Amino acid sequence: MKYSMAKVIVDVPSRETDRPFDYLIPDGMQGWIEVGSRVGVPFGRRTVQGFVLSLHEHTELDPRRMKPIQELLDLVPPLPADLVKLAEWMSGKYACSMISALQAMIPSALKGKAERYISLAEPGEEESIGEAEADGLFAAPLLLTGEEEEIVRYVQASGQVTLDHLSAHFPGRAGEIKGLIARGILAETQMIKDKVRKKTVKTVAAAVSGEAAEAALASFSAQAKRQKEVLEFLLEVGVPLSLQEVLSTLGVTAGTVHKLAEKGFAAITDVEVFRDPYKDRRFKGSAPLVRTPEQEVVYGNVTEVLDARQHGVFLLHGVTGSGKTEVYLQTIERCIELGRQAIVLVPEISLTPQMVERFKGRFGGKVAVMHSRLSTGERYDEWRKIREGRVQVAIGARSAVFAPFADLGLIVMDEEHETSYKQEETPKYHARDVAVFRARQHGAAVILGSATPSLESYHAARSQADDDFAPLLLEMKQRPLGSRLPGVHIVDMREELRDGNRSMFSRKLHEGIASRLERGEQTVLFLNRRGYSTFVMCRTCGYVAGCPECDISLTYHQKSNNLRCHYCGYAVPAPSVCPECGSEHIRYFGTGTQRVEGELAKLFPGIRVIRMDVDTTTEKGSHEKLLQAFREKKGDVLLGTQMVAKGLDFPDVTLVGVIAADTALNFPDFRSAEKTFQLLTQVAGRAGRHQLPGEVFIQTYMPDHYSIVHASRHDYLSFVREELNHRKTLHYPPYSKLILVTLSHEQLPLLLRMAENFTGDLRAKAQRLGWFGSLDRFAADALDILGPVASPIPRIKNRYRFQCMVKYRGTLDAVRLVRETAAATLEQLKDASLQISIDVDPQMLM
Ligand code: ADP
Ligand code: ZN
Ligand code: ZN
Repeated sequence: MKYSMAKVIVDVPSRETDRPFDYLIPDGMQGWIEVGSRVGVPFGRRTVQGFVLSLHEHTELDPRRMKPIQELLDLVPPLPADLVKLAEWMSGKYACSMISALQAMIPSALKGKAERYISLAEPGEEESIGEAEADGLFAAPLLLTGEEEEIVRYVQASGQVTLDHLSAHFPGRAGEIKGLIARGILAETQMIKDKVRKKTVKTVAAAVSGEAAEAALASFSAQAKRQKEVLEFLLEVGVPLSLQEVLSTLGVTAGTVHKLAEKGFAAITDVEVFRDPYKDRRFKGSAPLVRTPEQEVVYGNVTEVLDARQHGVFLLHGVTGSGKTEVYLQTIERCIELGRQAIVLVPEISLTPQMVERFKGRFGGKVAVMHSRLSTGERYDEWRKIREGRVQVAIGARSAVFAPFADLGLIVMDEEHETSYKQEETPKYHARDVAVFRARQHGAAVILGSATPSLESYHAARSQADDDFAPLLLEMKQRPLGSRLPGVHIVDMREELRDGNRSMFSRKLHEGIASRLERGEQTVLFLNRRGYSTFVMCRTCGYVAGCPECDISLTYHQKSNNLRCHYCGYAVPAPSVCPECGSEHIRYFGTGTQRVEGELAKLFPGIRVIRMDVDTTTEKGSHEKLLQAFREKKGDVLLGTQMVAKGLDFPDVTLVGVIAADTALNFPDFRSAEKTFQLLTQVAGRAGRHQLPGEVFIQTYMPDHYSIVHASRHDYLSFVREELNHRKTLHYPPYSKLILVTLSHEQLPLLLRMAENFTGDLRAKAQRLGWFGSLDRFAADALDILGPVASPIPRIKNRYRFQCMVKYRGTLDAVRLVRETAAATLEQLKDASLQISIDVDPQMLM
């Protein structure tokens, strides 16, 4: 079939360009252009990157007025057609542009930008530039100044140079260069350039064999002894070797090998290689374990769907250590046997080295790891292994859900309740929803695993009310190794204070640590990061250093001794006297973990503490190193923030202490009880996972809070029941859906007016549709609008922020309503600096 026209989504981020544009397909590209191809197309006066959305035989437009596609950037389209469909769905669901959805799916290496190249213009018929020398060349009418001539000569000598290079070489001559282009003496072309290239190595092989080889060997002169040696070696080995290896083995120079190649006796070729970040690592192999009866049920359910190539979603609620990971491994094995591929999603890959090890150990080279700390090139290579079908399993955080497998059979999402599965930047997608959509496209299964499923997933499984998302609930309550869940004690810190203990450690936790030190067992101490930020305060006047652009306090960084804003990056050296009153009593309140570390050293002289927080884990691989050190028992205590709560599994950890459990409870977020419950359950699960029994102390000022009480009893169901009641009364998810709209602008009065306009407009439209103000009544379709109010962080990067919250239920298309209203508001103002951001199903209410 001959396609004459392609619809292309261009990489130009604006509301006006968020639609397909039509381009002609040149004859030479017939058969190469596909849906999902990445192309360079002329757009206005530029060349931009774009993605082919669809191909058409005919065009309604006049072909003479259409521009052709300029370049095809890859032989294999980076996006299979199903991902292009997925992007369309995302754009509707999350109110994001098509290009932002498509860009989220490809590695950053492929986010090419146009480079502008300058060369001599093609000779026209009459005024041929031809072979003539420069003096004869530029006779009238091409009168050039000396400076212009210099530029032209330079371009002529170089053949082709980038505009950046040329303007750097001739500083201050932009006018001349532009003039030469305008007069058609120099030509400008644009080409998309990728950020990284495929990596290649030079290999060498003998290019002769048999009698020809004999003759070749006989032909070397005495001086060419080294060349002869190389050829003998290549003939003996018989397979291509890397040039480097040949040089180092024989101790010859590259010149020798090249001479051999010039004579036609050897061939030097560039061979593409994959950068493998794990190439120097050995993984312990692991065979499948005999399934427990509980695992058998889960395995049976999932493989039934897999074998039948059906779509099915399972919510696997299994206590920590119940063998969920083993089930993932075995179902994936089945998936691979069926010739299909699997994706494993983990909340944050650098925090789950043990997970990666288990998958690598079981499946070896079949696994691609999409690690956030890989270099752009390494990530691109892992991605290519997936796209080219060289691996069957992809493991990674959120964005691995887009792994471009051809026949996806299974998607596993571990710790499905984690907030990191929601992307906070555009496109603001949730990997769980994307996983379910993709699985439906492929007729694939999804396992959502957690010891503390999100209320949304659990409610959906229980009520089976939603056609799109009604997972089947599967449970695992036993630990295969027979170990018991640890005993959890709540420690009332108010009582400690009443009894005169002003330390951050309760007496019980203190005793616990002391006895572990004596017995040579290990302790994990957990500190909730929230509420413990590091700020600078003057003890004399109470001054707190704040960011001049954003309404938040600056954070102290010990290493660089400066103060930094976490929102905009603003940084200043830490002052030694108070900028307000000149007092020297200005104090740096170190991170919570630093303070705890100091206190531990004081109370237990000689104690070995491994601290894991943002300050100690900035370097690549530092998490792994710290955890390895702890595993090798080079530390008595592992102290950290959220990072230590994730799936770690150490046999000698018998004590877990939570320093302050309730810091997150006071957060203005309707999920704070749920988050606290999940975190405590997760931390508690770190103790006594093996033979030694475990013990957990939760220190709190709110010992009666239901999330703390239920977490201490490992009682997920009671927690859920109580929490769902609250949510129902207040119409929060899962009993409603939310859309958070944030408007921002530099001028406060203008912003206020626009926020009022927007909300008023939205209300009026919803009222006309009969949706508005009905959440408290029993209507199936109902919607309420809260706000506008100042955002919890009222100013970021000198922009004021107001927000409004849409709460709704039923089948009404609120996303569309919000999107259209936002577009109308922007249209009305015609001020590009007003921004309206739409967050569908927000996880963070900031
Ligand atoms: P989870 O992912 O639910 O925390 P894991 O899969 O890590 O649980 O299992 C916890 C421990 O139990 C691991 O040490 C694992 O090797 C072991 N285990 C899991 N399944 C079995 C089984 N069927 N037989 C024996 N040991 C098992
Ligand atoms: Zn002061
Ligand atoms: Zn700032």
